[in-house]
Amino acid sequence: LADLERLLQARGPHIAAVIIEPLVQCAAGMAMHAPSYVRGVRVLCDAFGVHLIADEIAVGCGRSGTFFACEQAGIWPDFITLSKGITGGYLPLSVVLTRDAVYQAFWDDSMARGFLHSHSYTGNPLACRAATTVLQRFADDDVLARNALLSQGVMPTWSAALAGDERVTALRQRGMIWAFDVSPERAGVDFSEWFHQAGRRHELMIRPIGRTVYVMPPYLQAAEVYVDMAERVLATLDEVVPR
Ligand SMILES: *Cc1c(COP(=O)(O)O)cnc(C)c1O
Repeated sequence: LADLERLLQARGPHIAAVIIEPLVQCAAGMAMHAPSYVRGVRVLCDAFGVHLIADEIAVGCGRSGTFFACEQAGIWPDFITLSKGITGGYLPLSVVLTRDAVYQAFWDDSMARGFLHSHSYTGNPLACRAATTVLQRFADDDVLARNALLSQGVMPTWSAALAGDERVTALRQRGMIWAFDVSPERAGVDFSEWFHQAGRRHELMIRPIGRTVYVMPPYLQAAEVYVDMAERVLATLDEVVPR
């Protein structure tokens, strides 16, 4: 936050927006940060008059434990991007949400004054129908409450197997994301590819980011499936990095 403040002090007038992936930076290796960091970024963006964009394409739609990851920080960004989970991964759709004030800058009754920006497949009806069905499912089945139980239920399996394991550091969890890192001495070269190949023998579709092993499973499995998944990941680890 101190670095961001220095940057905004130095270059604020030339910066339109700060974009963050709140709570979990997924492609950076499932790097998790505290909700207070997200709040701090909001405070700085307000202080320097800079928009805050939350890229929730991976962490949104319940993945982090709340529907929007930003909810855990108790703030709203100026823009939220969604994709992936909004259709349960079944059809391609991406969404940009923004505040009324920003939306009004795009909108005008006169075509000549509106900011007409669109794509060939904007608002594709079939993809939107998949999205509204997913949202209905969240409401009808209280998916978030069920996920909270599932995500805590599977933690003992991970912790018991990995506690004190010298191959592994930083076992972590946020909502329906579990991750750990394999120590650099033990991972060796091409770890990600070896793990991916071995995972397939254990009927897992898993692809570590560098030395970070992570799982982001679909939500609607029976509870024992998540424990079975954890056990298969651990068996894969034993195969790739023997004790
Ligand atoms: C997948 C992903 C994207 C790209 O999303 P598209 O819908 O393919 O444009 C952007 N940001 C994050 C965090 C992602 O996980």
